[in-house]
Amino acid sequence: MHRLGVLGWPVAHSRSPAIHNAALAALGMSDWHYQLLPVPPELFAETVRGLGGAGFVGTNVTIPHKQAALALADSASEAARAIGAANTLTFTADGTIAAENTDAPGLIAAIGEPLAAKRALVLGAGGSARAAVWALREAGAADVAIWNRTGERAAALARELTARAVSEPERAELLVNCTAVGLAPAPGEELAQLGLTPALLGEFETVVDLVYGERETELAAAARAAGARTVDGREILVAQGATSFELWTGREAPLQAMREAARAER
Ligand code: NAP
Repeated sequence: MHRLGVLGWPVAHSRSPAIHNAALAALGMSDWHYQLLPVPPELFAETVRGLGGAGFVGTNVTIPHKQAALALADSASEAARAIGAANTLTFTADGTIAAENTDAPGLIAAIGEPLAAKRALVLGAGGSARAAVWALREAGAADVAIWNRTGERAAALARELTARAVSEPERAELLVNCTAVGLAPAPGEELAQLGLTPALLGEFETVVDLVYGERETELAAAARAAGARTVDGREILVAQGATSFELWTGREAPLQAMREAARAER
């Protein structure tokens, strides 16, 4: 049995087992299985070091372990090092652990349009904003502005990744929401929490919301109503998962099966 999984704490809510097991089933890979790996921070390093010997080919890594995963890996990609976090570990045949960050290429794949010379506004300054800013710069965006509720964090991130902090959201071609706003529904308040108005939303061609839940976020609904193309958090989850899947299995990821699993009711 080839084993895969997702390390997190808590992790019971993760859609990754459904997405990856659907992909494995679609390709007839019956000797592979993807499982939840709930591991508390104090047991993370010793648990991960034992996974290769227990038949694991690779794991995804989610909150709160992404930085610890990078720290314990024996090697890391340029993306993982630059972002300072890994969401994918691979256990190699020689017993070493390789770290990768597929959040960045996953975001670019999910956006699915050329970004060279485009202007982007990123909302947020946490872990996912960091990956998004790095990815957009790598993809050739002409300008990446960062707005965050706590302005000093936006300024620090902008300094580190050669972007531009702004004190209020401003118009651009692409908007990427990397805040947690929308995670706990606050109907009627979510746009205001992001410093946005329906009129400003209408200025963006494409609006990407990393947040996903049981219902559409207020941001995604308002962006659609304002005429923008929208990319939701489940599409990004599928895209980062597909990149990890291809890394571990060497097979082309069956995107449609993964999308259906990501969108299925629990
Ligand atoms: P994080 O590091 O904890 O950062 C949270 C960000 O949200 C910070 O910038 C914070 O601003 C902002 N924020 C929180 N509450 C806010 C509010 N009420 N008003 C305005 N801003 C607020 O989290 P993360 O890892 O970057 O994740 C952010 C979101 O992206 C989460 O909802 C997560 O589920 C989602 N996500 C989705 C995917 C996917 O595959 N679809 C992948 C990664 C993350 P302050 O600095 O001011 O606190």
